[in-house]
Amino acid sequence: MAISCPVRFRPNLPKTRPLRFKSGASRRRPPTPHLQLVIDAVGDGLWDWNIQTGAVWFSPRWQSMLGFAPGEVEPHVRFWETRVHPDDQAMVQAVVQAHLDGLTPAYQCEHRVRAKNGDWLWMLDRGRVVEWDAAGKPLRMIGTHTDTTARKQAEAELRESRLQLNAILDNAPVGVVLVDAQRRILRANDAIAKIFLRPLDGLIGASSRLIYGDDAIYEDVGRRAYPILEAGGIFDEESMMRRSDGANIRCRLIGRSVRGGDPALGFIWVIEDVTVRRRAEQALSDRAGFQRVLLDTVPVPIFVQDVLGHYVDANSAFERWMGIDRQSLFGKTVFDLAPPDLAEIDEAADRALLADQQPQSYETQLRCADGTLRDVLFSKAVYCRVGGKPAGIVGALMDISERKHAEQALLERQQLFEQIFVASCAIKLLVDPESGRIVDANPAAAAFYGYPLDRLRDLRICDINTLSEQEIAEEMRNAKTERRKHFQFRHRLASGAVRDVEVYSSKVMVHGRLLLLSLVHDITERCLAEQKLQRKTRELERSNAELEAFAYVASHDLRQPLRVINSYLTLLERSMGDDLDAEARECVDFARDGAQRMDRLIVDLLEYSRVGRKAKPFRPVPLNEVVDLALFNLEVAIQDAGAVVVVAKDLPTVSGDDNELMRLFQNLIGNAVKYRAPDRAPVVRVTAIPHADGWRIDVRDNGIGISFDDRERVFGIFQRLHRRDEYEGTGVGLAVCKKIVEHHGGHIWVEEPPRDDLPGGSLFRLTLPTLVVDAQPADGA
Ligand code: ADP
Repeated sequence: MAISCPVRFRPNLPKTRPLRFKSGASRRRPPTPHLQLVIDAVGDGLWDWNIQTGAVWFSPRWQSMLGFAPGEVEPHVRFWETRVHPDDQAMVQAVVQAHLDGLTPAYQCEHRVRAKNGDWLWMLDRGRVVEWDAAGKPLRMIGTHTDTTARKQAEAELRESRLQLNAILDNAPVGVVLVDAQRRILRANDAIAKIFLRPLDGLIGASSRLIYGDDAIYEDVGRRAYPILEAGGIFDEESMMRRSDGANIRCRLIGRSVRGGDPALGFIWVIEDVTVRRRAEQALSDRAGFQRVLLDTVPVPIFVQDVLGHYVDANSAFERWMGIDRQSLFGKTVFDLAPPDLAEIDEAADRALLADQQPQSYETQLRCADGTLRDVLFSKAVYCRVGGKPAGIVGALMDISERKHAEQALLERQQLFEQIFVASCAIKLLVDPESGRIVDANPAAAAFYGYPLDRLRDLRICDINTLSEQEIAEEMRNAKTERRKHFQFRHRLASGAVRDVEVYSSKVMVHGRLLLLSLVHDITERCLAEQKLQRKTRELERSNAELEAFAYVASHDLRQPLRVINSYLTLLERSMGDDLDAEARECVDFARDGAQRMDRLIVDLLEYSRVGRKAKPFRPVPLNEVVDLALFNLEVAIQDAGAVVVVAKDLPTVSGDDNELMRLFQNLIGNAVKYRAPDRAPVVRVTAIPHADGWRIDVRDNGIGISFDDRERVFGIFQRLHRRDEYEGTGVGLAVCKKIVEHHGGHIWVEEPPRDDLPGGSLFRLTLPTLVVDAQPADGA
C-alpha cells in the first residue's frame, strides 16, 4: 500500500526553542559497536537520523524487522516516511515535531509500519535529539525501533474478549455476580439489576446480603455453599431472595469459585429468577393433579394411547370396567384386549385418526379381564404436543352391550312380529279405537276382505262391519276397556259378500298410542254347520219326544188288552171248571204266562223309556243312601240266595236323580245275585275310587261271569245271554243302567275281574262326575 501522504518533518519550523546542534552532527555515524550489540541482543532496531540532510542509518536489525535484507533500505528518512501507516502519519509527525521543538524530553511513538511483504507491523519508536547547532537547532536524533505487533495483537485480543465477556454477561438471561471472600459484590451484570430491581451502581461494593433480603437465608446459604465452593465444587440450589420492591422471589443459585477454590480470586454466582417457572410448574402440577382427579371421578371409562397404540394411561372407571389395574394395562395394545379381526380394524381407525385428527366414534368389542366380550362405543380424539405434533389418542368408551342385546331382542321381536302379524295366514287388523280406522292389516286380511293392502289400511271398521256406527262405537269401548275380548260380527267383503267372523281383540301400545289388535276368524262355515246342527237337534228332540210319547202311550195302552186276555182266561177256567182237561189247562197256562211275560216286557220297556224323560233337577245324592235303598228292595232275593253284599262306607255323593241311581244299583246288584254260580254263595262288593272323570264305581261279583265277546252286547235292549228257563229276565235291565249312567254324564262297561280272593264273576265299572261345587249340600235335600 502506497503512502499517499508521507510524513514531512520540518525541523526548522519550530522556532520557539532553539535547536542545539553540535558540530559534525550532519555526519552519518553508526552507534558504537558494543551499543549496537546490546540493542541487537534485545531484538530492537536502531536508527540514527541526520535531521539536516535527512540521511538515516538503519541498523541491520531495523531493516530485517521489516523484512529487508541489509542494504535494501534507502538510508534516508523518506524511506521511513513512506512506510508509516497513513492513519498514523499525522500523529507521528506531531509527536516528532513536539520533540524537535523541545516540547518533550524524548520522542516516543507507537505506530504502524509497512513491512516488505506488505504486512503492517506495530513499532514502538523511541529516540531523542542528541545534537544541536549553536542556535539550538536539532541536528541529530537517535532512536530504537521495537516490534510491538505481538503485544498489540494480544492487547487487541484481550480487549476483544473483554468486550465479548461483557456482551455475554450483559445479554445473559441469568444474573451473574462476582463476589469476594467477604461476599461483597465485585461485579454484576445487567440481568442482576433487572432481577432485583436495583441499579448496578448500588450493588457493586455492597454485601450480597442485600439481594437475599433475609439474613437467615443469607447465612444459611453461605454456611452450606462456601465450604463446597472453597473445595472447588459447585453449589446448585434454589433459595428465596428479595427484590428491592420487597417482593420475595425464588432463585436458582449456582456458585463456584473463580479458580480452584481460591478465595482471593472470588466466587462467581449465577442467579436465575425461577419464580414464574416454578409457579408455572406448580400450576402444571396442580393441573395434572386436577386432571387425575377429574379422570378418576368421571364414571366413563377413559384411556390414553401413545402414537404407537400402547396404552399409557387409564382412569379408575376403565380399571373397574376392564377388571384390571392400569399398571398392568400399560404397554399393552388393542391386540391384547380385542379379537384379532376387530383389533386390526381398531388399529386402522387409529391410524386414520392420527392422520386427519378428526374425532372418531365407532362401535366395536373389547374383552374384559373375566373373558367376557363386551360391545362398546368408542369416542376417540388426538391430543397434540405444543407445535401440533400428535402425542397420542384419548378415548372414552361406553358399554353398549345391554343396548345391543336390547336392540337384538327388539330386532328379534320385530321379526317375530313380522312373522306373527305379516307372514301369518291368520287375518289380523290393527285398529285405532278412537277413530275406528284400520291402521294396519296383514296380507291375509287383504286376501280375505278382497281389498289391496293400501286400500284396506285406508278403511274404517264401519266400512266392513255390518253393525251400525253406534253399535260399533259401543263394541270399541268394550274392547278398549277389555270388558270383552271376544266378539262375533258380520263383516262385509269387497265383493259385497257378508261373512260371519269371530274377533279376538287385544290392546297393544305402539309409540305410546293405544291400538287394538284384532284377530279375525272366518266362522261362516261353522255358523252354517251349527245352524244345520241346531235344526237337526231340534228335529231329533222333537222326534225323540214323539217316540217317547208313543212308547209310553203304546206300552200303557198295550197292557190293557193283556189284562183283558188274563181276565178272560180266568173266567174261562172258572166257567169250565173241571171240564177243562189237562191239555186245555196247560194251554190256558201258556196263554197266561205269555200275557204276563208280555206285560213284564212292556213294564220294563216303559221304565226304559222313562229314564231321563221325566227327569227331576239333579241334586246331591249320597250313593251309600241309594245303595242301601236298593238292598232293601232286593232283601228277599238276597236272603233267598244267601248272598253277601259288601258296600264300601265311603261311596261319594254325586249330583243326580236319586230314583234313577237307586234303580242303577238295584239292577247291578240284582243281576250279581241272580247270575250267581251254582256251586257257591254269591258275594257282591260295591267300591268307589276317584277317577279322571270324577268317580269310578265298581260292582264286583263271584257269579258265572260274562265272556269277553258279550261284554258290549249285554248293554243292548232285550239282549240276554241265557234262556228264560235258565235265568228269568227281559234283557232290559243293563240297557236301563247304561241309559241312567249316560244321563248322569258317565259311562259303564264290563271288565275282566282281577285275580283276587273272589273266584270268577263279573266286574261292572261305571263313572260318575264329581259333585259340582255350587250344588246344594246333600243334607239340604
Ligand atoms: P235280564 O237280566 O233281564 O236278562 P239284563 O239286561 O239285566 O237282562 O241282563 C242282560 C244279560 O246279561 C243277562 O241275560 C245275563 O245273561 C247277563 N248278565 C247280566 N248281569 C250279569 C251278571 N252279574 N253275571 C253274569 N251275567 C250277567
